[in-house]
Amino acid sequence: MSASDILVIGGGIAGLSAAAALSKHARVTVLEAEEQVGFHSSGRSATMLHYFLGDRLVRALTLAGRAFVENPPAGFTEVPLGHAMPVLIHGREDERDALDALEIEIRQFADLDRLDATGVHELFPLLKEDAVHGLVDRGAIRLDAHALLQGNLRQVRSRGGELHTGTRISRIERTGNNWTVTSETGDVFSSPILINAAGSWADHIASLAGVQPLRLEPKRRTIITFDAPPGTNLEGLPFAKTIPDELYFAPESGRLFASPMDEVPSDPCDAQPDEYEIALAAHRMEERTTVKVRQIHSKWAGLRTFTPDRHPAAGFAPDAEGFFWLAGQGGFGLQTSPAMAAIVESLIAGTAWPITDVAREDLLPDRFLRQAA
Ligand SMILES: Cc1cc2nc3c(=O)[nH]c(=O)nc-3n(C[C@H](O)[C@H](O)[C@H](O)COP(=O)(O)OP(=O)(O)OC[C@H]3O[C@@H](n4cnc5c(N)ncnc54)[C@H](O)[C@@H]3O)c2cc1C
Repeated sequence: MSASDILVIGGGIAGLSAAAALSKHARVTVLEAEEQVGFHSSGRSATMLHYFLGDRLVRALTLAGRAFVENPPAGFTEVPLGHAMPVLIHGREDERDALDALEIEIRQFADLDRLDATGVHELFPLLKEDAVHGLVDRGAIRLDAHALLQGNLRQVRSRGGELHTGTRISRIERTGNNWTVTSETGDVFSSPILINAAGSWADHIASLAGVQPLRLEPKRRTIITFDAPPGTNLEGLPFAKTIPDELYFAPESGRLFASPMDEVPSDPCDAQPDEYEIALAAHRMEERTTVKVRQIHSKWAGLRTFTPDRHPAAGFAPDAEGFFWLAGQGGFGLQTSPAMAAIVESLIAGTAWPITDVAREDLLPDRFLRQAA
């Protein structure tokens, strides 16, 4: 049996970033079911950091983690964790009021420019003529998910922590003051603290441990890539999004990618794109832009897992000693990961609370369990 101070189930961005922060204080072991880290949601994201995702709390977490992305600690990474990519929210005449309302909300977090029809088309010439209003955040960042995952993993290892891949936990018991977990292949690990960072499977992990689940909701989202019209200059194009959650698109490795921003309820699984959402992405792209999606180059889907109030859950379970929830990263888990890791560090290692704008009660899992009781 291998013993640590803290076990983390889940080698996605949530588990790895928390493990990196905690490895300053304790011996941390990360257990990942797949052969590689980031195989599920963390490796399938649109990899943006911006403030048009989620609500005020999500924006505050994003803002708090931004300095880390721009200035990672020494030794974290040899490559930048992201590069500048403006976010353009575009709207038709009938969407103007909604854009005004959005502008008021987001201005608290980012410097924004308001664009007229000319400004919108200068920034994204492929938009149809009826895109006449725009809001742009020129400070948004396209993240490098691989660099973020590997940087956290490097920190874990350099501080004496371990990662075990191919280790799918199928049994969890509390014995004395320890959690003892067993993988499908019979490997056994134990520690007084068990962090549940299993993404879409976090409720399943809770059930294995006899802990009350949070009623998490995994929702599938689809992305397709395709060629831009010949001669399109992709350099400098923004990440473009409709005001309602209908469509986003952006340049991607010499092509364009688009998502119909689907949220299809799913069981935890290796999510695969469905023909309907693939067609919907192409249809909405042609509705809003002059692009003809003639051939889909690649497609993928991933799960975005939400708590009932769509805020992440971080904190010890009130019904099981030493069982720590780190779940519900929804569609913002990469961009909030530096702030969430600092919060986990504070809640477990007792460091100062890192974000004045966010209260710990907003994140503790108790809020759902009280409701359920
Ligand atoms: C299409 C799409 C677009 C997105 N766009 C953005 C974006 O622009 N910006 C942003 O910030 N976020 C975005 N997200 C959201 C972001 O990807 C997620 O919030 C984040 O990756 C969740 O991380 P996680 O570590 O909780 O989950 P995961 O990455 O899924 O990690 C959980 C891990 O737990 C492991 N696990 C499960 N069960 C077990 C077990 N029994 N034993 C051992 N290991 C287990 C799994 O194998 C998995 O690797 C997007 C997501 C999708 C799908």
